[in-house]
Amino acid sequence: MREALHERAHLLHNAPHLAQPLAFVMPAYQWWEAPFYGVGLKMYDVLAGRDGLGSTEFLSRQQTLQCLPGVQPRGLLAGVKYWDGQFDDARVALALARTAAAQGALLVNHCAATELIHEAGKIAGVVSMDRETGRTCALRARCVINATGVWVDDLRQKDGEATGRPVRPMVAPSQGVHLVVDRVFSRRPCAAGAQDGGSPGAVCRAMAGQGDSGHHGYAAP
Ligand SMILES: Cc1cc2nc3c(=O)[nH]c(=O)nc-3n(C[C@H](O)[C@H](O)[C@H](O)COP(=O)(O)OP(=O)(O)OC[C@H]3O[C@@H](n4cnc5c(N)ncnc54)[C@H](O)[C@@H]3O)c2cc1C
Repeated sequence: MREALHERAHLLHNAPHLAQPLAFVMPAYQWWEAPFYGVGLKMYDVLAGRDGLGSTEFLSRQQTLQCLPGVQPRGLLAGVKYWDGQFDDARVALALARTAAAQGALLVNHCAATELIHEAGKIAGVVSMDRETGRTCALRARCVINATGVWVDDLRQKDGEATGRPVRPMVAPSQGVHLVVDRVFSRRPCAAGAQDGGSPGAVCRAMAGQGDSGHHGYAAP
């Protein structure tokens, strides 16, 4: 968490045109929700330290309605407002790729690393398969970084098989969904965050997408 918060600060500093702070409000309908989430989010502030974007605040029912005019008013008791970062991931990825290319990197798109090349017990490159043509080629490198996200263990497994070292999985995948809907909410000063009581552990967030006021839900069990 601390690492992610530092990374957030770097991104806000290095790419202010692609990243900005965003206030989230969690509406509370049960008496325990505001203190429960408020304390957790205060700890988030403490972890962020100097990289914090703003202090977590407890909101009255009225303030919550001002921040989230579209929220269900029936049974609403209070809210908690906290700060996080929002960035345009597609444009950041393109900016990184273009910077790498400008610095002399060779970029290959639609290519999967299907095998690792080993020499003297060390990784010396990858076999890459072009997903569009099916052609394969060997790419040699002094350093190979496995940045395959939730698939990270697939390549680690191949490394383990080649070197005879057992590999323990690092990642327990969870699934998220983006729901893009028509303008169901009016334009709001804040994004909304909530725990979904129907699915224990699920987190839902609603925020305006680019150029619209649709909402994108993010649920991670
Ligand atoms: C619907 C949804 C919403 C989310 N919302 C948020 C959010 O609001 N905030 C947040 O912080 N996080 C969010 N996340 C999580 C976030 O997307 C991930 O934590 C983040 O993308 C991980 O980044 P990464 O670079 O490690 O992996 P990824 O972004 O998954 O990138 C890995 C890349 O490696 C490629 N790849 C895989 N295997 C191979 C291979 N063998 N050879 C070559 N390439 C390969 C994949 O195609 C992929 O492009 C969300 C996730 C989902 C699914």
